[in-house]
Amino acid sequence: MSLVAERFQPFGQSIFAEYTALATKHGAVNLSQGFPDFDGPDLAKQAAIAAIQAGHAQYAPMTGVPPLRQAIAAAWQRQGNFAIDPDAEVTVTCGCSEAIICCYTGLLNPGDEIIIFEPFFDFYAAGAAFAGATPRYVTLHAPRTPGGAFTFDESELRAAFSPRTKAILLNTPHNPTGKVYTRAELEFIASLCIQHNVTCISDEVYEHLTYDPSLPHISIATLPGMRERTITLSSLGKSFSLTGWKVGWSIAPPSLTAAVRAAHQFNTFSGATPLQHGAAAMLLNPGTYTASLRELFTRNRDTLARALQDAGLTVFRSDSTYFLMADHAGVSKRLGLLRDGQPNDRAFAEYLVREVGVAAIPPSVFYHNKSHGHSLVRFAFCKKEATMQEAASRLAKLR
Ligand code: GLN
Repeated sequence: MSLVAERFQPFGQSIFAEYTALATKHGAVNLSQGFPDFDGPDLAKQAAIAAIQAGHAQYAPMTGVPPLRQAIAAAWQRQGNFAIDPDAEVTVTCGCSEAIICCYTGLLNPGDEIIIFEPFFDFYAAGAAFAGATPRYVTLHAPRTPGGAFTFDESELRAAFSPRTKAILLNTPHNPTGKVYTRAELEFIASLCIQHNVTCISDEVYEHLTYDPSLPHISIATLPGMRERTITLSSLGKSFSLTGWKVGWSIAPPSLTAAVRAAHQFNTFSGATPLQHGAAAMLLNPGTYTASLRELFTRNRDTLARALQDAGLTVFRSDSTYFLMADHAGVSKRLGLLRDGQPNDRAFAEYLVREVGVAAIPPSVFYHNKSHGHSLVRFAFCKKEATMQEAASRLAKLR
């Protein structure tokens, strides 16, 4: 009998841990878990080392070290957003993951409902179990043509709101689809949040990784009536290739910041002090780092998309993040990788890692309705160009 608490039993082992281990076991190019295979910027590293040597060895303040909170507020305003108070509205967490847990446990009571779009980063659904809240899922439907974008049906979203809805989890730019929510979509979501007096938790960790100038990232907090009801989350990891630093934060008006801090103080209390100083230095002097990352990832995305298309997969457009989704149904049929006569994401991903030497994520774990993910596969392209070339040449084995 499992000793794991019932609330976590439905979730099993994290798909990221499972596939990174499989990639190592089979010597595969790891395009599964999203993390860069290159180092982060020297400026951040030197600042963190200097902070260690300067003796920043004790607990950071519960809310985060002041220079980092100030740098976060300055970066937010530099992006053209409204002015915020770094003391009253910014909280530093152990990565955005902890910020999500703090939002959930700080805001939601057992029985409260939270709306989550599927496919979702698996953490969002598991996090609801932490809080004893009830998730209501709304599907981002796959585009009918590869050039289209994943999108929700307005009536399905409207129907998901109930008198028990306390929050909606938004993730834009979106993992795993690479979707950037348009202004019109955000306005529709905002109108429902306002009508039903619902808090929006907006995970924007991929805010700087957008590739189409006609589809810029928009923070929903900047829409009329949304500032007072939005908790915006972001982190250092994706924008500066420092996922292992686990430096994240929330930006929210004092009433919502109180909920985040109520949970954070008894969750981790604070993150690593020297890394917070390193993060502050990086945010104050980002230079052209994220611009060069965007160029690299654009090339990588195109290399990957071409290799997958040549191998016979249907590739959906990715305008952001470092992920793309593809449909493997045709290839799975050709290779006889069906389960119960149907394309199956696990069967395909297992074949890919074992026989082709490329690891990718089987995305049915990102769906409440698992069958929606069975013919799909998610690839990460946040790697060195040489890594992507190697993956592309291995994918040719699928032809
Ligand atoms: N966000 C990363 C991804 O989607 C993984 C984070 C994790 O390993 N928990 O691949």
